[in-house]
Amino acid sequence: VILPHKKPDWLRVKLPVGKKYTQLRGLVDKYKLNTICTSGSCPNMGECWGEGTATFMILGNICTRSCGFCGVKTGKPENVEWDEPEKVARSIEIMHIKHAVITSVDRDDLRDGGSIIWAETIKAIRRTSPQTTLETLIPDFRGIEVNIDRVVAVAPEIISHNMETVKRLTREVRIQAQYERSLSVLKYIKDSGQRRTKSGIMLGLGEKEEEVIESLHDLRDAKVDVVTLGQYLQPTKKHLPVKEFIRPEQFEKYKEIGLSLGFRHVESGALVRSSYKAHKHIE
Ligand code: SF4
Ligand code: SF4
Repeated sequence: VILPHKKPDWLRVKLPVGKKYTQLRGLVDKYKLNTICTSGSCPNMGECWGEGTATFMILGNICTRSCGFCGVKTGKPENVEWDEPEKVARSIEIMHIKHAVITSVDRDDLRDGGSIIWAETIKAIRRTSPQTTLETLIPDFRGIEVNIDRVVAVAPEIISHNMETVKRLTREVRIQAQYERSLSVLKYIKDSGQRRTKSGIMLGLGEKEEEVIESLHDLRDAKVDVVTLGQYLQPTKKHLPVKEFIRPEQFEKYKEIGLSLGFRHVESGALVRSSYKAHKHIE
């Protein structure tokens, strides 16, 4: 595939605009709040923040895994901060967030995989912002059920876990993960009584159309309700290269296929990130 020298038009970043955005930006700067939206300079900030949605990362910013697409640092994580749940809850309260997406690095170094902090964070947010709806974008917890159970028990509105890529590319894209394990985690969560589950795939890593469709089938078989499909962009030159810029028509085609398979929501588009339009997914 020959890639154009510059990004295609449909990937041009949307400018964050709007009163709500400016207001939140001011609070984030003033209180030094930590959102993925700002640290990852997400192109959707104007839209998401305008709707009262933001994403927060917990359990530090050093990950025990080293996925080839991910800009998060790999290494030995810092010690767990037991007051982190309160800090995150406070940020959500200050920002008057209506729908919060919580995610974390992978903590394969911890016996509980970080699941205790996960559960405490949800409980702290429920105490301080009872109206706020929550999505927990969790790691696979290496498939350890007792850790997954802790998150299910605190009943976030949505539990999500991203497949990130198709089956064939999983080894290359997320070396320490397994395609089948991620699918069984999603299925286990649904079978545990979770109302809404969700997953996401990045496109442009060299996957073929039939492989994307296979993944959509697999996700439906795992009873996943919501799926997001977006364009992969290389965070730095050291990360996996972009093999292809997927055209808007192709994203549209996947959306139609996804909807025909019975997903409740399919977000499919170049700038879609897994938390894009997240507040809608509880409907
Ligand atoms: Fe934040 Fe996610 Fe929206 Fe980006 S898509 S602005 S990271 S909530
Ligand atoms: Fe990044 Fe998550 Fe992979 Fe860690 S597990 S490297 S945070 S994608």
